[in-house]
Amino acid sequence: MPVHESEAIILQTYPLGEADRLVSFLSRSMGRVRGVASGARKTKNRFGSTLERLSHVNMRFYEKANKELVRINECELVESFLSAFSDYDSSVALAILSEVTETVLPDHEASDANFRLLLLTAQMIKRTKRSELPLSYFSLWTVKLGGWLPRLDRCARCGRTFEAKDSAYFSPSASAVACSKCRKPGMRTLSAAALSGARRILAERLDKLTEEMVPPRTARDLTDVMLDLIEHQIGRKLNARALLESLA
Ligand SMILES: [Zn+2]
Repeated sequence: MPVHESEAIILQTYPLGEADRLVSFLSRSMGRVRGVASGARKTKNRFGSTLERLSHVNMRFYEKANKELVRINECELVESFLSAFSDYDSSVALAILSEVTETVLPDHEASDANFRLLLLTAQMIKRTKRSELPLSYFSLWTVKLGGWLPRLDRCARCGRTFEAKDSAYFSPSASAVACSKCRKPGMRTLSAAALSGARRILAERLDKLTEEMVPPRTARDLTDVMLDLIEHQIGRKLNARALLESLA
């Protein structure tokens, strides 16, 4: 039974049987993994509050031969996000983070970039109680890391370079961005502001970005477009998105 010790972020948990929990988590060493935490639903259990959603933990788990589920043996809390879930807007954003990560990342494929992206974004939302900019940063980078982000600097059809005042147009399935002359019916608009916001986000670290650079409204538009792309890739609607739309 190979033993793993890794930093991990809890994505979702589900009751399993009488006393256990099924835990989906993102580990730094092995990517997205599902495992069983035995006895985690008993009143007194060794996991305490470490299995709350988005908890950043140090985890020890075992892989069992021919079993898809690992066995979670120990969890030690590094950082809890429980306090951020008490703020409604933050909790909706955090729900998007965990659902997108859970849905988009493949099983058992380590990605340090996705791990850091999730952790950084969650920490920023917790610290600032502002979710628009972190959420647009997260969704844009998720699309970029997934390899689904079209070039944002020029029209994919005619090759014209976008200027600062230009809006761009795209359909989630086209995976390419078109200019106003080449747009097709039914394409969505990426406003000039959202386009320049996207460029800022791709060029700057999250903690260096401000709401002057990417205003909340622009960030929301950008998030919307990126979540469309993600939903197209996964072939379904994100559950948490309905909550996000109710905030707008
Ligand atoms: Zn064009």
